[in-house]
Amino acid sequence: MMHVPFVDLRASHRLLRDELAAAFHAVLDRADFVLGDDVSRLEEEFARYCGARRAVGVASGLQALELTLRAAGVGPGDEVIVPAHTFVATAAAVTFCQAVPVTVDVNPDDYTIDVAAIAAAVTPRTRAIIPVHLYGLPANMDAIMALADEYGLFVLEDACQAHGAWYRGRRTGTLGHAAAFSFYPSKNLGACGDGGIVVTDDDALADTICALRNCGQLEKGRHELAPLNSRLDTLQAALLRVKLRHLDAWNAARRRAAALYTELLSGSRVTLPVERSDSTHVYHLYVIRTPQRDALRQALQERGIGTGIHYPLPVHRQPFYLRNGLRATAAPHAEQLCDEILSLPMFPEITDEQVAYVASCIRAFEAVPQTG
Ligand SMILES: *Cc1c(COP(=O)(O)O)cnc(C)c1O
Repeated sequence: MMHVPFVDLRASHRLLRDELAAAFHAVLDRADFVLGDDVSRLEEEFARYCGARRAVGVASGLQALELTLRAAGVGPGDEVIVPAHTFVATAAAVTFCQAVPVTVDVNPDDYTIDVAAIAAAVTPRTRAIIPVHLYGLPANMDAIMALADEYGLFVLEDACQAHGAWYRGRRTGTLGHAAAFSFYPSKNLGACGDGGIVVTDDDALADTICALRNCGQLEKGRHELAPLNSRLDTLQAALLRVKLRHLDAWNAARRRAAALYTELLSGSRVTLPVERSDSTHVYHLYVIRTPQRDALRQALQERGIGTGIHYPLPVHRQPFYLRNGLRATAAPHAEQLCDEILSLPMFPEITDEQVAYVASCIRAFEAVPQTG
């Protein structure tokens, strides 16, 4: 039996060990641990990578979302439209601004936010939309921006799963008014701990986020805005600068593994992820769909294969949101998805043999009649 973990973070770090250690030691030598040299360098490099003017490093992806909403003026009484099918942080960022998340359904084919559902959910209180580039596939940004222009809404890309993905010749991070990225270790670009970054062309917005992350100081000693602490550590920034140079190669490796899964599973009964001709999917996750999800997951587990469920509950059914303010609009697709989706092993260093083994175990499962 082959062992295929859901993710293996050791492989990429083993290869970069010396470079990462050198970056780490350089920070120890300078001891500029908070908002040091590597933070501003990473900000410049990541902004340039995306093709945007500015980037601001923060403590996490969640904080990147929250601080951007705050900087855009989202607050009590406002509504912000989010997909019902996403990581809870997308909605939580709205809640922490004391605004109300409004969940809407996702498309049944590519699982990104349904633009018609956004249009139907807009009210005079709506201030912003947070489209999520789910699993590494950009949302339908042209239609979303057209709608946002019509109603005067702020668009914050949740790009936490889509570092380096393309949409109509532009990278994620340049498609809305601002974008939030997470550097959680297993993301396409991950730190050795927590981190996040906001990307935008809006200088005033970026300056406000710089103040917000640093105790609300517009100038030193004057705490003008909410005195939050949400800084990206210099050590993490130093390590991320090393890793950023490998992001495109890692995304290419993810796409290669995804193409092999798709080839080996075509004609099987599971529903495979779709690609769209307007985008380059970067496969943060490779998510299949089957009504036999739980039995398949169990069968793969018994054959040494790790899987995940992203996510088992739609946002509006999360226990926290059963008790706290949220406006849920009908989301039948999101609700059905949660019971049927399964994330297969995916990381840049996964081997063809491992992908083939996973595919063959899915085929073997399908060959056995399922009861119940
Ligand atoms: C990971 C993730 C976040 C939050 O990132 P953290 O760095 O863990 O706070 C937000 N939204 C989505 C879609 C994510 O996948």
